[in-house]
Amino acid sequence: MAEIIDGKAVGEDVVARVKKLTAELVASGNTAPGLAVVIVGEDPASQVYVASKSKKAKDCGFHSVQHTLPAETSESELVDLIGALNADPKINGILVQLPLPAHIDSGRIIQTIAPEKDVDGFHFINVGKLGTGELATAFVPCTPAGSMLLIERVRGKDLSGLNAVVVGRSNIVGKPMANLLLAANCTVTIAHSRTRDLAALCRSADILVAAVGRPEMIKGDWVKPGATVIDVGINRIPAPEKGDGKSRLVGDVEFSAAEKTADAITPVPGGVGPMTIAMLMANTLVSASLAAGRPRPE
Ligand code: NDP
Repeated sequence: MAEIIDGKAVGEDVVARVKKLTAELVASGNTAPGLAVVIVGEDPASQVYVASKSKKAKDCGFHSVQHTLPAETSESELVDLIGALNADPKINGILVQLPLPAHIDSGRIIQTIAPEKDVDGFHFINVGKLGTGELATAFVPCTPAGSMLLIERVRGKDLSGLNAVVVGRSNIVGKPMANLLLAANCTVTIAHSRTRDLAALCRSADILVAAVGRPEMIKGDWVKPGATVIDVGINRIPAPEKGDGKSRLVGDVEFSAAEKTADAITPVPGGVGPMTIAMLMANTLVSASLAAGRPRPE
């Protein structure tokens, strides 16, 4: 049976280290790292995400600010707020919760965030740095960065020559994940909805990352014996066994079968999910440390 990779525990380790380094930063006379989270509208799922990010930032000892704007906020009002946050020396990280209401161009908004405060890693400058292997100065998107940390926990840092298959090519998960694996010397294939014979491709993977958003689409017998499986997917499905109208979360991988073949696998929930928020805290600390003229914390 596979090792179950405990993302909650690894995420807690990351947050504990961020807390410790934050205390050291402040003790040496610097201001606390500042994270501004901006939400537009009242999408209930987004409200929950934003509240947990703000709370975690406070737990880390950060200066945590939340801007909750009405759904009818105009694009130019949002641009003005981001401009003010870009200019505010107390703020090191700016996170605009997506999705934004349809009348606002999210792509344009992301590009107005100063790259050195882009702790989500979505600005073209940070995307370009990751793509060109400038990892020492890039902000890497939090979910793939967290997934990479989990892979390193079970495989070590040198992944030379391993075959990695990333299923999904989104800008926030699939593509940055593939770039990180490439930078770690894997031979990387990115699969997507037009890929032919996905099952055979997955069976070639020493490292298999699923970021699709389709419940248990990756079957257990698609997993190569001994593979490391990272399941990014979060899907809510009906769970009549828990009672009428109840639901439960599953990943993109058929966990019960895959855990029999894989060497290590992330569960859903409790795998990649807790890493995302932990890496957001780590990125904000990095930004604050660089702004204070200190070396980038590892
Ligand atoms: P997107 O919808 O942006 O991308 C999904 C990708 O899956 C696309 O590239 C799509 O291909 C591909 N795809 C869809 N159907 C198939 C198929 N049948 N075969 C192969 N590939 C397919 O999703 P995200 O990347 O944003 O998210 C993916 C999953 O990860 C979701 O479940 C999301 O909830 C979860 N997630 C979890 C996070 C966490 O913190 N754990 C954070 C972010 C996301 P194509 O490009 O051809 O359409």
